[in-house]
Amino acid sequence: MISLKNVAKRYSGFEAIAPVSIRIKKGERVVFLGPTGSGKTTLLLLISGQLAPTSGHIEIDGVALKSIRSGRILSRLVGMIPQQFDLVRNLSVLHNVLAGRLGEWGFFRSLISLMFPQERSLATDALNRVGLSGWANSRSGNLSGGEQQRVAIARVLVQDPSVILADEPIASLDPARGEEILKLLVEIAGTEKTLIASMHSVRLASSYFDRLIGVRNGAVHFDLPTGRVTSTMLDELYSLEGLRDAPQSAESPSSPNNPSLLDVPMESYEN
Ligand code: ADP
Ligand code: MG
Repeated sequence: MISLKNVAKRYSGFEAIAPVSIRIKKGERVVFLGPTGSGKTTLLLLISGQLAPTSGHIEIDGVALKSIRSGRILSRLVGMIPQQFDLVRNLSVLHNVLAGRLGEWGFFRSLISLMFPQERSLATDALNRVGLSGWANSRSGNLSGGEQQRVAIARVLVQDPSVILADEPIASLDPARGEEILKLLVEIAGTEKTLIASMHSVRLASSYFDRLIGVRNGAVHFDLPTGRVTSTMLDELYSLEGLRDAPQSAESPSSPNNPSLLDVPMESYEN
């Protein structure tokens, strides 16, 4: 169980997350949906314990995140797949996957592992599960975006936390590969692990997740089982009107020097 109670986050005066309260049950599959800048990444960072809330209280499985002093305990509770994967490009796939064990190992064992990889079989099993068997010795920076995403998933597999967070896991992938990655995430989460992802595809979110939380201007706009979210709710969620980060040009009238798309005659699009 994850519990956020009146959690707010300010970045030097700017309120990125207004006080929100959310409870997520063990094994639930939840998506944070919402426009860019709405606060999805901030919410995931707060739940991952990488960012402390300005006010409010976060608990995972009854443990208050702010009370955790040990990387080992945090790494058993929650693991995050960041949007840019955060792989060390110059290191092998094996080392990047084993980075998922750093919380568990502590400093010296981690250091030794750079020369003599520890628990190699854990990493090779994880690579098999994500469809990258035989890739252990490849340089991570040479992999495609989809392959790097799989390495990041293998890393969280060896970490084996009870909550898996994935920030826009399909943003950099084509639709077919994106769907494969979502299937994989849902499969590795199984029924025991809680999975929380942020993304923009309502169709894919509805196919693979139980619950959609719409986030807008740092607040929860709706929080519903997938099937109960309507297209009107989605239009409101993504509407530029009243959106704090909306580009000014959305409302400003077009000038002759700066014609808007609508001023261009339709014929220009036809060949
Ligand atoms: P999303 O992931 O939904 O695009 P974010 O959580 O990244 O949204 O950002 C929410 C808001 O907080 C945005 O307005 C963003 O500019 C701001 N923000 C995010 N990180 C920082 C930071 N480290 N310092 C200042 N402002 C930030
Ligand atoms: Mg984000």
